[in-house]
Amino acid sequence: MDVEVLEPRTVEEAAALRGEHGDEAKLIAGGTALVLMLRNRLIAPRYLISLNTLPGLRDVSYQPGEGLRMGALATIAQAERAAAVRDHYPALADTYHKVANVRVRWAATVGGNLTEADYASDPPAMLVALDARVQASGPNGTREIPIGEFFLDYYETALAPDEVLTEIRVPEPAAGTRATYLKFITRSSEDRPCVGVAATLRLDPAGACEDVRVVVGAVAGTPQRLPEAEALARGKRPAPELFQQIGDAYAQAIDPIDDVRGSAWYRRRMVRVLVARALNELASHES
Ligand SMILES: Cc1cc2nc3c(=O)[nH]c(=O)nc-3n(C[C@H](O)[C@H](O)[C@H](O)COP(=O)(O)OP(=O)(O)OC[C@H]3O[C@@H](n4cnc5c(N)ncnc54)[C@H](O)[C@@H]3O)c2cc1C
Repeated sequence: MDVEVLEPRTVEEAAALRGEHGDEAKLIAGGTALVLMLRNRLIAPRYLISLNTLPGLRDVSYQPGEGLRMGALATIAQAERAAAVRDHYPALADTYHKVANVRVRWAATVGGNLTEADYASDPPAMLVALDARVQASGPNGTREIPIGEFFLDYYETALAPDEVLTEIRVPEPAAGTRATYLKFITRSSEDRPCVGVAATLRLDPAGACEDVRVVVGAVAGTPQRLPEAEALARGKRPAPELFQQIGDAYAQAIDPIDDVRGSAWYRRRMVRVLVARALNELASHES
């Protein structure tokens, strides 16, 4: 059966079309994930609702005090290169730079990367560490979802079927916050991560840890953050032994997936190494 492409002019129209056609329709943004599913006959929708005709969802901007706003249809390459991201959120720009290859990054959108909810993705862990929020619009209006509540399980998000993700917002990090993303790959250099670790660190004026965040991606259905392990650092001076203790806590608590990129046993060992490595790297940065 032929697929009909629908081209709504507004987000409300896109949501209404999705509601009207139900499971017979799929929203499409960059198409990098969706077209693969169509080609492999994993899905066979009657309608594709293109989001590419929607105006105003490609802007990437930064306002001091307010933070970063990325329209859901901005491409990953656009986000990686935008001054708003590079100048104010360099670790996020670096995370986007580490996604796939340049061809995929020019087509794939920042919104599609989240809504696909593939566990083996890079930006989700960094966005959780940065406390991002997403805007979703549907028949009942617009709502904001904290990114920590957005991913529910493998390929499952908090979006209702007739909601469109329209924007990602990242608050301004507290002054002095350092951030990094380590992507560990086991196959080709353009592959998805076996383990990804996003970490942030802020020291108090006396040089002790004031705020530590660690989010491990690609090892389970959703990005993994353990506040009780992060709290081990609070008030203590940065030290390799302390960071290893946090790495051990993550390795013990996470129940990793077994897949082609690595066994559960291997992933657990890599989590242990990479969490400590990310924190040591942040501690050695000049602030
Ligand atoms: C070869 C290859 C390598 C890759 N490697 C990596 C990698 O290393 N790291 C990584 O993080 N990712 C990787 N990816 C995944 C890539 O980032 C995603 O395919 C991409 O981000 C999806 O974005 P898209 O705009 O193409 O979405 P689409 O393919 O258009 O859509 C994906 C899903 O999201 C839904 N959707 C899209 N936009 C919206 C929206 N605004 N609101 C509601 N629903 C929406 C669609 O209905 C569909 O279900 C790779 C992909 C490929 C093809």
